Amino acid sequence: MKYDAQIYRPPKEYRSILLQVTSGCTHNKCRFCGMYRYTNFKMETLEQVEKDIIEASKTPYYRSTDRVFLLNGNPFVMQTDRLLKIAEMIHKYLPWVNVITTYSSIKDIERKTDEELKILKNAGYNDLYLGIESGNQEALEFINKGNTVDEAIREMKRLDKFEYNYYAMVLTGLMGKGVDKAIENGKLTGQMLSKVNARGIFPMSVTLVPGTELWQMCRDGEYEEASEYDRLIELRQIIENLNPEKTALISSAHNSNTMYIKGIVPPDKDRLLKQIDRILNEASPEEMQEWIDRKNILI
Ligand code: SF4
Repeated sequence: MKYDAQIYRPPKEYRSILLQVTSGCTHNKCRFCGMYRYTNFKMETLEQVEKDIIEASKTPYYRSTDRVFLLNGNPFVMQTDRLLKIAEMIHKYLPWVNVITTYSSIKDIERKTDEELKILKNAGYNDLYLGIESGNQEALEFINKGNTVDEAIREMKRLDKFEYNYYAMVLTGLMGKGVDKAIENGKLTGQMLSKVNARGIFPMSVTLVPGTELWQMCRDGEYEEASEYDRLIELRQIIENLNPEKTALISSAHNSNTMYIKGIVPPDKDRLLKQIDRILNEASPEEMQEWIDRKNILI
């Protein structure tokens, strides 16, 4: 299998066949993100993709998974025709695969017509991972996300319409130090995600990656990192304000988070809030600050 760039994949895809169809991210401008900073976006040739699929079909290990995860930053940006050709090759050589999943940006969905979304779903595309980050317009502008909150809601609703499963990845701590900012961001993110039906909500917490704009701003004294207490308050606010019509898994199983929580919202909301409140009551903000050495977190 050809892999020539750093691989990022969601934890849930640990057993999936990882197929490189692109390298890099077409946006590559989010202020906090260093994932593809030094990788120019390019598409893998269809010949190479086919070669890799054939190789996967001969690898016994891959017989036990029915999922293919397309690499890298936002393969859903590709034209529908190309995505369909890739799906066709996957189904031809890996007939046991049911789900083709990948990262997608809001703009990648926006560029596809309703008809295209329908065709892609029928071809096996599903379980899209979306970097939603925040429901706060000010935060999206600050990080240069490239889409608005309203666009994100509109495109997630389109995915709902065609019965896609999708996962919303959100980031606490984006606006930096201050409990007021944490409360505002958390509230707006929870409210935003209550308007759509994400199958899963995966909070992570912003970490300064050397070489990124946010890291430089911090060095220049223009940005102060959120405290662990701020981040936990923001996570609490997200959960408190989450009232989606359908249930969603929420899991903070990522090493950037101050605390691990996992449950189904809305039914588990009270339990999750009580778990967070217990920590907030037991530990002082100063003690919490010692819990994580953010310099050693790999994103
Ligand atoms: S956060 Fe996602 S969209 Fe933004 S630069 Fe990084 S990979 Fe690209």
